[in-house]
Amino acid sequence: MKPTALVAGNWKMNGLAASRSELEALAVLLKGGAKAACNVLICPPYTLISTFAEMNTDGIAVGAQDCHTGVSGAHTGDISAQMLRDAGAKYIIVGHSERRADHAESSSLVCEKACAVHSEGLRAIICVGETEAERDAGNTLAVVLEQLAISVPEEASPENTIIAYEPVWAIGTGRTPTVDDVAEVHTAIRQALEERFGAEGTGFAILYGGSVKPSNAKELMSAPNVNGALVGGASLKATDFNGIIDAYR
Ligand code: PEP
Repeated sequence: MKPTALVAGNWKMNGLAASRSELEALAVLLKGGAKAACNVLICPPYTLISTFAEMNTDGIAVGAQDCHTGVSGAHTGDISAQMLRDAGAKYIIVGHSERRADHAESSSLVCEKACAVHSEGLRAIICVGETEAERDAGNTLAVVLEQLAISVPEEASPENTIIAYEPVWAIGTGRTPTVDDVAEVHTAIRQALEERFGAEGTGFAILYGGSVKPSNAKELMSAPNVNGALVGGASLKATDFNGIIDAYR
């Protein structure tokens, strides 16, 4: 099975009601341009999910950036996958390195969150990636494969799970690994998925994330086993994000 490519935007803690205009602008660009051979997703902050979902923008799915492991209860400030589904989210990012670092999220917690996403019939985008110190110590593959093994739940399938490889040192820094380095990690992830899930392992989309922009997207997306991008900063402007989607036109 060949993975369906996905270009996903993670808006992080950015965006106000006025940002509707950016989603409208992206819809216009997608409609006006050649059809891209990828799915397109925007994950705005929680406050904009229902607004964006209600805009019902043709060809742009709406997702969330995190969720709680539970369905409901006494968890002040948290939000469940069920609530996000109710608001219109189709995908939920789990295990982003900023969550792992800022909120001490472990891979086993990430796995529980992915299960919560799946329980609602939504797709989990599970993030993995090494820090600069881990890369410098030659531990990239060991770190990424351990995160993958623990974070991806047993019931994962190509239909309900997407993997995002995001080297922590490349996020928001303007630095990217070489295409060969990206290919090495993505191929190792693919092999691990095939070992664990058999033939199904070939069908998981594996996104690359970390300083993707219009000028480097085509090259990064052409690496073996790269099936799309998870984009932070460059997803905030419709023209930049559309320039990344161009890699699939
Ligand atoms: C991200 O936060 O997932 C990300 C890839 O950010 P940026 O594109 O800004 O590096």
